[in-house]
Amino acid sequence: MQSARSVGHDRPRVGPAGHYRKAIPAMQPHPLVDIGINLAHDSYDPDRAEVVERALAAGVRRMVITGSSLGSARRAVELCRQWPGLMRATAGVHPHHAREFPDHDLPALAGILADPLVTSAGECGLDYFRDFSPRDEQRRAFARQLELAATLSKPVFLHQRDAHADFMAILRDHLPSLPAAVVHCFTGTGPELDEYLAEGLFVGLTGWICDERRGTAVRDLVPLIPLERLMIETDGPYLMPRNIRPRPGHRRNEPMNLRYVFEAICEVRTETPERIAATTTDNALKFFSLPALGSVS
Ligand SMILES: [Zn+2]
Repeated sequence: MQSARSVGHDRPRVGPAGHYRKAIPAMQPHPLVDIGINLAHDSYDPDRAEVVERALAAGVRRMVITGSSLGSARRAVELCRQWPGLMRATAGVHPHHAREFPDHDLPALAGILADPLVTSAGECGLDYFRDFSPRDEQRRAFARQLELAATLSKPVFLHQRDAHADFMAILRDHLPSLPAAVVHCFTGTGPELDEYLAEGLFVGLTGWICDERRGTAVRDLVPLIPLERLMIETDGPYLMPRNIRPRPGHRRNEPMNLRYVFEAICEVRTETPERIAATTTDNALKFFSLPALGSVS
């Protein structure tokens, strides 16, 4: 459906003499940063270089590769070495994998985090929706990773689902010693958002907000997030945006689809698409210490 505030360059423009020029085709997509892409996932093995090329063509100028286990974090670092001008990595253990992350693995994670291409700790947090790991194991793994991030002065990339109270109770102890924190793939409620913002957290939005079935409650909250705290992500290969037309005939999401998340944000906010792109990109470049957009990629 066409929105009143349509995104892109397809609106009639007023020319120098005040006449309407014909609509001009999009020349350059808005420069965006995908702060959460699981590019190490094996679903990208057959065509990863093409996925990166398509992302660049769609305006995704930088990517933060999510490391959600020791193995995937190591693979994320390898990808950064392949595309050092384009990518940085996170390194952490997702709550789903908390049971496979005993305390004696902490030095191994610290070793990965020491790599200069790893500019944030995580993905870590709590997930009581799936409960793939016992909750006490999740809380332990989360707290340990926050301690490590604070020791190494790394910002944190956080996951929280159906665990807000415990999540905040643990996080609050560590926030004063962390440089910054982002709650990625925000799917929570208004009061949860208020608490994140009051604690100074950044908020990451995914294609969840493009979902006409379950995303509407979160979409209603999108205008309440200060632009200075907002970043965007695909979380590919998961969470294919449901506003893609024509709908793709497969379920693997990829970074070129970031613009659908961006468009859904633009539809519900009052700022111009240019300003939303520039500010969310700037937020991401700073948060994740990404190479500046002017630099070689
Ligand atoms: Zn997550």
